[in-house]
Amino acid sequence: MTLHRPVSTSRFDGALPEGFVTRLRAQLEDYGIPLEQRGTQLTARYAQAEIDLRLDHTGFAVQIAAEGEVPLHQCRESMIYFLDLALPEASTRMTWSGIGATRTPPNFHLASVLGTRRITPNFLRVEMACEGIAALLTGGMHFSLLLPPEGTSPRWPELTEQGRTIWPDGACALHRAAYTFVWLDAEAGRFAFDIFEHEGGRTTDWARRAVPGETVGVMGPGGGDFPEATHLLLAGDETALPAIRRILEHAPANARGTVILETASEQDRPALTVPEGIELRWLSRGDAGGLAAALEEITDIEDGQFVWVAAEKAIARTAKARFKALGLPRERGYFSAYWIKG
Ligand SMILES: Cc1cc2nc3c(=O)[nH]c(=O)nc-3n(C[C@H](O)[C@H](O)[C@H](O)COP(=O)(O)OP(=O)(O)OC[C@H]3O[C@@H](n4cnc5c(N)ncnc54)[C@H](O)[C@@H]3O)c2cc1C
Repeated sequence: MTLHRPVSTSRFDGALPEGFVTRLRAQLEDYGIPLEQRGTQLTARYAQAEIDLRLDHTGFAVQIAAEGEVPLHQCRESMIYFLDLALPEASTRMTWSGIGATRTPPNFHLASVLGTRRITPNFLRVEMACEGIAALLTGGMHFSLLLPPEGTSPRWPELTEQGRTIWPDGACALHRAAYTFVWLDAEAGRFAFDIFEHEGGRTTDWARRAVPGETVGVMGPGGGDFPEATHLLLAGDETALPAIRRILEHAPANARGTVILETASEQDRPALTVPEGIELRWLSRGDAGGLAAALEEITDIEDGQFVWVAAEKAIARTAKARFKALGLPRERGYFSAYWIKG
């Protein structure tokens, strides 16, 4: 049986400046995506999509094939971003096939609040109903929550025929924050996520007042998938707790390694289901031995180990540099700034 792979194509007619391919390759490689070249044919492979770019005497033709409409859209957006950097005069002129007439980005959904409840002193669980949620099942364990300004009738993102997502701005600008699915039930069209409450947080304020039936936007999936490894080092703070819990739920029974989780309050530490070979260490923020110090203490990495760190930007950045210096191959690490100190 041949699976239907949606395709989007485009072409650019114009002179290609010297160094175009080198610049494009550098942009992709910055994101860990190798660009293979065979003569005039360039190929890049994403997890769920493939880009094929053919150079010719009048410019280039590009085709993206993907495993679904969402990865197709996401890969096309990335390609446009890379072209914006490597050859801006091309990306602004190119139009793409395969963009639906509705102009709604395929990774955008409306979701309505079913309810909120407190699960620990500083975490709120929000349950949502969302049509088309099956599209959010694969390709990442996170989504962006899009909150319209209070008291306005919401305007949502739209897609142009150039494949770009146009975001409402000014008084209609949406507040965007990334969250992790605690669970998704595609059949029931429901999902839940946990919000770590913090002062000044727009999402915290929204969740404290949210009432059933209220509609918000959801965009995803994205933000990283489950690490494909059995030897794990997972580290993070409260914002990473939902992601670490899901990684542990997804990990094989023979997984081994260490989980380091830092919270400010000991009461925000739920019981986690941890494979037998994984040691779980809870740390208190503010103590001398917090998350940053615990990561500093690690002096070597083992063969095949996957290092996953998500926390405040400075901690994630320092960890990335440190593990790189320890020789961690790029494809065995995930370091993400989940929030930025104000
Ligand atoms: C891929 C990904 C997945 C994530 N998953 C989750 C999740 O499941 N649950 C969750 O709670 N968070 C999660 N986060 C973190 C969350 O997106 C950020 O904390 C975000 O800033 C919250 O938005 P906000 O609207 O509450 O605050 P913003 O309006 O963005 O920020 C307002 C102020 O709050 C400060 N702030 C933001 N986060 C924190 C914090 N954690 N502690 C103290 N001050 C803070 C900022 O510095 C700023 O001054 C995730 C982030 C990423 C990138």
